[in-house]
Amino acid sequence: MDKYSMYINGKWIGRDLEELVVHNPANGDRVGSVPFGGEAETTEAIDAAHEAFQTWSQTTPYERAGYLKKLNELILDHVEELAQLMTIEMGKPINESRGEVKYGASFIEWFAEEGKRVYGETVPSHATNKRLQVWKKPVGVVAAITPWNFPMAMLTRKMGPALAAGCTVVIKPSSDSPITAVKLVELCEQAGFPKGVVNLVTGSSSEIGKTIMSDGRVRKVTFTGSTDVGKTLITQSAHQVKRLSLELGGHAPLLVLDDADVDVAVQGVMASKFRNAGQTCICANRIYVQAGIYDEFVEKFTASVRELKVGNGLVENVNIGPLINQAGLDKVNVQVKDAIEKGATVAVGGEELLKENGVFYKPTVMTDVDQSMLMMQDETFGPVAPIQKVESEAEAIALANNTTYGLAAYVFTESVARGTRVIEQLNFGIVGWNDGAPSAAQVPFGGMKESGIGREGGHEGIAAFVESQYVSIGLD
Ligand code: NAP
Repeated sequence: MDKYSMYINGKWIGRDLEELVVHNPANGDRVGSVPFGGEAETTEAIDAAHEAFQTWSQTTPYERAGYLKKLNELILDHVEELAQLMTIEMGKPINESRGEVKYGASFIEWFAEEGKRVYGETVPSHATNKRLQVWKKPVGVVAAITPWNFPMAMLTRKMGPALAAGCTVVIKPSSDSPITAVKLVELCEQAGFPKGVVNLVTGSSSEIGKTIMSDGRVRKVTFTGSTDVGKTLITQSAHQVKRLSLELGGHAPLLVLDDADVDVAVQGVMASKFRNAGQTCICANRIYVQAGIYDEFVEKFTASVRELKVGNGLVENVNIGPLINQAGLDKVNVQVKDAIEKGATVAVGGEELLKENGVFYKPTVMTDVDQSMLMMQDETFGPVAPIQKVESEAEAIALANNTTYGLAAYVFTESVARGTRVIEQLNFGIVGWNDGAPSAAQVPFGGMKESGIGREGGHEGIAAFVESQYVSIGLD
């Protein structure tokens, strides 16, 4: 079992600390360990990032792009190694891991270029003896806290724009999948980033979190994870008015309206619902199908779900890997049991799959569901697709919006007028229209309501790491 280290100020440290062991969710095997760091190591990382910021922020975006492009090349040279590791430490099927590594690299590549387009402004003056300008400055030291379900892409979506903007970073990956982050930081070292520009701490999330939130030198925290932890960070940020970007939980509705192409809709739901065994923030969590198309959709969809192969993600043709851990499996079990007790029907699946020492759940379709059921109120984070029949477009929209979340939604309709009308009424930051996989580096990703604050990706993604400084120049 490999023992990994933290990376602070250009040095690999922490092998003398208590170990945080990572297990393969497909079979319970020990994958490796990272150090269980806390306040002291986090402060050391902030010291290094603060020191490095003084020079890194003075480099040109062209110089920074050079490092980022080198990193992009290195990631693409190591797709297979990174993908294998990702699958072993958090379970997703190997082809999805390969896809995530390439998707992760795309943020580094895109922001390497976007850093060159952080323009200031010259504003028309109200006085002949004044000139008004807006300058742009990197916000400062950034802490990036990431979840386990996309251990690479959630990190590069933050690091890419932060580094391109001239910020330095302290990374805190999830304790469930920290080794992919270690490997990514090894590639940063190979890319030659100056010491202190990229730092990595692992260990106690509450202690690392508190240290980050109470250190005034950290000017920005960018977080992806659950809404509950996001709310804790909002509270902790108040004391220093720390800048926050929050990518939080979702509960995506997926609407199949009666003029949809059923095959396109089935394909879209399969892509959205079952990627990463249903453990994505934008996966369809509740499916509303209009009465006129309901029977055909349920039949074809259920047939496709029956074909899904469950198992260890390292096996090439597996579609559904394990859930991340026992707590994840327990949540799915509770939601399915609750729905059955309240009258739902299991069309396929509906139970755990006992395999080695892994935590697997059978791909599941449930019908006769309604709003009273837990799975229609909260993220499931598992391979369970609940389908509710609706009579009208208006009913589908009302049900879709009846949530405190606002991350992603999906609409399947062949009518441009109808699609436009429906989407204009949906309160979600991302909408896939006849598209079950809408993410890309060059577009804004993020949620409304309790799904977050701010956007990652696209030009908004780098604006999050830049402050405007208005300068009024008196001419006499
Ligand atoms: P999580 O439990 O909120 O953890 C996310 C990160 O926060 C981990 O690194 C965790 O560290 C850390 N953390 C936990 N408590 C903390 C605290 N008090 N202070 C500072 N950091 C703390 O979420 P998760 O289970 O890893 O990820 C799943 C969630 O992420 C889902 O809700 C999903 O919807 C959401 N998500 C959102 C997006 C998006 O773009 N909107 C993308 C992916 C996932 P430890 O692991 O060490 O506890």
